[in-house]
Amino acid sequence: MALSELYPPYEVVRNPDRCIACRVCERQCANEVHRYDEDLKKMTADESKCVNCHRCVALCPTRALKIVKTDHCFRENENWPKETIEEIYRQAGSGGVLLSSMGNPKPYPIYWDRLLINASQVTNPSIDPLREPMETRVFLGKKPEEIHRDEAGKLLPNLPPQLELSTPILFSAMSYGSISYNAHKSLAQAARELGTCYNTGEGGLHQDFYPYGENTIVQVASGRFGVHKEYLSAGAAIEVKMGQGAKPGIGGHLPGAKIVGDVSRTRMIPEGSDAISPAPHHDIYSIEDLRQLVLSLKEVTHFEKPVIVKIAAVHNVAAIASGIARSGADIIAIDGFRGGTGAAPTRIRDNVGIPIELALAAVDQRLRDEGIRGNVSLIAGGSIRSSADVMKAILLGADAVYIATAALMALGCHLCRSCHSGKCSWGIATQRPELTQRLDPEIGAQRLVNLVTAWTHELKEMMGGMGINSIEALRGNRLMLRGVGLNEKELQILGVAHAGE
Ligand code: SF4
Ligand code: SF4
Repeated sequence: MALSELYPPYEVVRNPDRCIACRVCERQCANEVHRYDEDLKKMTADESKCVNCHRCVALCPTRALKIVKTDHCFRENENWPKETIEEIYRQAGSGGVLLSSMGNPKPYPIYWDRLLINASQVTNPSIDPLREPMETRVFLGKKPEEIHRDEAGKLLPNLPPQLELSTPILFSAMSYGSISYNAHKSLAQAARELGTCYNTGEGGLHQDFYPYGENTIVQVASGRFGVHKEYLSAGAAIEVKMGQGAKPGIGGHLPGAKIVGDVSRTRMIPEGSDAISPAPHHDIYSIEDLRQLVLSLKEVTHFEKPVIVKIAAVHNVAAIASGIARSGADIIAIDGFRGGTGAAPTRIRDNVGIPIELALAAVDQRLRDEGIRGNVSLIAGGSIRSSADVMKAILLGADAVYIATAALMALGCHLCRSCHSGKCSWGIATQRPELTQRLDPEIGAQRLVNLVTAWTHELKEMMGGMGINSIEALRGNRLMLRGVGLNEKELQILGVAHAGE
């Protein structure tokens, strides 16, 4: 018997005075929890299947439902908490690796919440963002070390290809296959409207989305699914995925059940076959090998596209980034250990990697120390939750940030953490037609535009408060940050003074 059948983690609480047995919950629950009992003439629930996705709660017309955490308790203690006991039982039953979705839930320090932003008072005036122009546009890519002029003094253009964004927020990689067609369409449309980019992830680019090329980052991962010349030429930039924050050092696996129809065509693999990305790229075992791939990607796209190299935040991330900055790549994306995923082994997700805040600060400082910061732009990702996190990332040295979990939440995700089941009740992390149609891409795109627009307004307010009117002028300006409750070593790595100093 499955553990959830013995100990269901959630209870479905139905108010009998409100329930009119309309059976909406039965139709809406992708996990088949609710059922109308003809004999009892009322709705019943099989709680063992509930993942707390809130679909039924949100759509119940009489507000008759709520889902609560069960309060049955194990004989737990500090050393053996409930989750650990349950995991032992589950593995003793299955013999398998534990799988999870979304980001690391463990209570490691969240450095964003220990950093505070400065504001002008008296001597250096703040700027009113409602009345004064505030520049949130950023250009990502290698910057030339010096400018050249012709004999007449005219500037000679020698700027390598740049990714121009109207706001320093991009949508991070989520493959078609791991998320639905409508979710991808929402991201593509929103990116175009916002003047930013979304990212194909490793699943290739569906034919319908080629028109969004100027707002698309096309990814090349170790599986090389869906990679061909037209694909590489279609995007505004190419991203080589070396690692992912949620599962550093291991490959990916999209089960054959999700490789159907257009997903299989886009990935260029047979229907029903598992899409397994190997842990390493089998042609990359050194920075020189990476350099070769970066050069090949540039050659095939006529040196017109910036190349991003994405890595997971790991222990020696600064040294790795230093190598990448010399590999010919234009942008480095660093993904912290709290980044989301459609599926990852739980142990890897929860125990491997380091926080993005420390990784970003270490990389920015190392590149500055080596005099090569202008060789690359930095994108930080891995649990950016608000415009304040965006601003703190920029002040720690990022040129822009990737968001994914927050973007999915704008589309309706309720963080139920069961993406790997393929039964997302909100039509996002699923390929089942009856579920995917629940996400209207027009509404989804509008909600994404709303979210990023709201964050951009908030960024402008923070910029105004600091008296600085351009995002680019704030990059790596750690004087604008102070730490609270951090020890000397943490402050040293972050490169910030303590509050009060
Ligand atoms: S899985 Fe979702 S829709 Fe089904 S009962 Fe639980 S909360 Fe409701
Ligand atoms: S995408 Fe869907 S399945 Fe995944 S956490 Fe969000 S609501 Fe749950």
